[in-house]
Amino acid sequence: MSRPSSLRSEPAGPGRPPAGPVAPLTQYVLKLVSRCDLACDHCYVYEHPDQSWRRQPRVMAPATVAAVARRIAEHAAAHRLDVVRVVLHGGEPLLAGAARLDATAATLRRVIGPVARLDLRMQSNGVLLTPATCDVLVAHDVKVGISLDGDRAANDRHRRHANGASSHRHVLRALALLRRPAYRTSYAGILCTVDLANDPIRVYEALLAEEPPHVDFLLPHANWDNPPGRPDGLATPYADWLLAVHRRWLADGRPVPIRLLESLLASASGHGSRSEAVGLGPADLVVVETDGTFEQVDSLKSAFDGAAATGLDVFRHSVDDAAAHPAIAVRQTGLAGLCATCRACPVVAHCGGGLYAHRFRSGNGFDNPSAYCPDLLRLVRVVTTAPPAEEPAHPADSLSPDVLDDLATGAGTAASAGQLAAVHLALVRALLVALSERAAGDPVAADGWRLLVRLDDGHPEAVRDVLSHPFVRRWARRCRDGAAELSYLACVAASAAVRARVRIDLPVPVRDGVVSLPTLGALAVGAERGVVRLGTDDGDVRLAGRRVGVGAGRDGDPAREDGPDGWRPVRTARFDGGRLLLEDTDPHRDCYDVPVQPRLTGAAALRWTRQVQRAVRRVDAEAAEYAAGVRTLLRALVPLRPEPTGRFRSAAAGAAFGAVAVTAVPDDATLAVLLVHEVQHLKLAAVLDVCDLFDRDDTRRLSVPWRDDPRPVEGVLHGVYAHLAVADVWRRRPGPAAAGHFRRYRRWTEGAVDDLLGLGVLTGAGERFVRGMRATMDGWS
Ligand code: SF4
Ligand code: SF4
Repeated sequence: MSRPSSLRSEPAGPGRPPAGPVAPLTQYVLKLVSRCDLACDHCYVYEHPDQSWRRQPRVMAPATVAAVARRIAEHAAAHRLDVVRVVLHGGEPLLAGAARLDATAATLRRVIGPVARLDLRMQSNGVLLTPATCDVLVAHDVKVGISLDGDRAANDRHRRHANGASSHRHVLRALALLRRPAYRTSYAGILCTVDLANDPIRVYEALLAEEPPHVDFLLPHANWDNPPGRPDGLATPYADWLLAVHRRWLADGRPVPIRLLESLLASASGHGSRSEAVGLGPADLVVVETDGTFEQVDSLKSAFDGAAATGLDVFRHSVDDAAAHPAIAVRQTGLAGLCATCRACPVVAHCGGGLYAHRFRSGNGFDNPSAYCPDLLRLVRVVTTAPPAEEPAHPADSLSPDVLDDLATGAGTAASAGQLAAVHLALVRALLVALSERAAGDPVAADGWRLLVRLDDGHPEAVRDVLSHPFVRRWARRCRDGAAELSYLACVAASAAVRARVRIDLPVPVRDGVVSLPTLGALAVGAERGVVRLGTDDGDVRLAGRRVGVGAGRDGDPAREDGPDGWRPVRTARFDGGRLLLEDTDPHRDCYDVPVQPRLTGAAALRWTRQVQRAVRRVDAEAAEYAAGVRTLLRALVPLRPEPTGRFRSAAAGAAFGAVAVTAVPDDATLAVLLVHEVQHLKLAAVLDVCDLFDRDDTRRLSVPWRDDPRPVEGVLHGVYAHLAVADVWRRRPGPAAAGHFRRYRRWTEGAVDDLLGLGVLTGAGERFVRGMRATMDGWS
């Protein structure tokens, strides 16, 4: 392949670097290691024309790291940069080992930190991630993005070891590590390369199941010399693939930010793109190889040997020298740096000519539209002209602005709460699809999965009722993380079948002497473990050879005592237009700081359900604005054991969306306040699942009046959102004691809201959300 000699000395595109002072560079990719433990066949570093990695030292030496850090700090000081981003990259950066990572991050923080805020990241295949490396990442506040192309089949299509072995299991183990509470702050997201052979929805669901804070899709590397494959002569197969994800993502309520789609939406609403792959923003990025040489973006390695070289290095040249290199400077010129076709294109403001590397053609270098031009045109047109209700007001929003504004009042309509519930359901479905792959190796789970798929076609409401149960999500998450058993999938499916009154004969697992059917109840059987059969016939349910009153359980008679058949039905509290399960059987309900109550007697259950009914009616009567959230989202109440101190406790857990746990309280008024309080936590947790309200990289803590220990920003947001509602309830109650409670909660909330607004940590959407709360309080007399 010929290499245009012009590239090293002058820009290959039509634009020329700007005259005068250079534009500063804020992003640095540090090739910490130039080798990899995988041998992905789509890799642009090792499998494409540029083979310069063979000439590089294996690992960046400490002296080189120090030189890079000094160059970055010098540049940041000269240009008064507030923030610089450094991404530790490779090859595979984890091959450096925990000690070298530790030393590298420490050097970068020590040298750059005093000059500018350092946003330190790492991009990794995850295979070698261990608790020891995670400790290093957290200690130096390094956010790590993991590459994963979908479920096992999709991922193994390219991302394999040199001997052909799968990397999938290792990558999932890495993601499970990053989800641990201790390491979660270092989980940046997942990077997925598109392959048309993979089903887009399965890929989307497999990624969603890993609960990434962000997802990004990359088009496979191609250019005009090696154009993207277009099977069956399809004109825009890559756009079609991404638009299938886009449709499902919108229908799901945008449960995770997808960078490529968010960037297009952002540019459509007049904001800058956040992706190098689209938009006209300057590409203010430079790569530093392991030997300290400056290079252009890595993806250029798919063009030709030496395509990314600049001839500059950190020992002899400053970052200003690199920024002034013609091939780097031209990429900062936006529209002027594009070819004539792109400059005249109606969607150029959103597309920006696509990824630079995709424009290459032997003979005229990068003076071309993208090799993905037809796909980009279609993708941009469809995504940027989505119906207004689906467009965000702010780039970071994943809920429609109306819904976010509505929830920001502190209360919110049933429709807004319904949207949060829809996101929750989408996340559960994604988790189950991810688990289904493993189910093939477990006959009980496999039968359950087949039944669930069949029911989802014919009886979607029954499936939805079961999948919406708070503890199905908790089980699915634990199962994904290896902490719960997959065979419980059969219990989930069996519950849906019983609800749908479908005739089945299915093996279901026994654990700790019990068969549990989520939303229905549990049966004590003789054996501790094993499998029993569950059969249904015209609403008659036989379990472990016994006819059991599951039908009665569905009605949930609250006073029913457990009978000699061993069946323990879930009791139900009904109220106008709704119902709530009193959960004292589900094996996955124990997820709170306070231990849960064991099975209640019929008399105790009756007391609980009656009090819950009265408390919900009380919320209706005295704080109707909060009733919609309580009625729409609250699906289960978990009785907690009393505290030895006699203190009342209540709790909600993001992993069990829709459930509130509470100790027994003496009166309905107290329970009404606790329900409103905990539902606020559920609402905000669901909002934060899909919206960036604050900069998650900011680790500062705030002192708050309701806790002795300083709280992270997320904790403060939760506190103010809950206390706002509690203040609002007390505001409406008569008497001096209520007035005193109102004043206290209002004072707490106002002070913390003002602190949040003054901290500079909120995103645009977050500031709007918190100002919404502030406006509610300002409206109180
Ligand atoms: S993990 Fe990354 S660097 Fe390693 S072979 Fe795969 S794509 Fe290339
Ligand atoms: S759609 Fe094609 S012509 Fe238009 S800006 Fe993108 S690459 Fe250029």
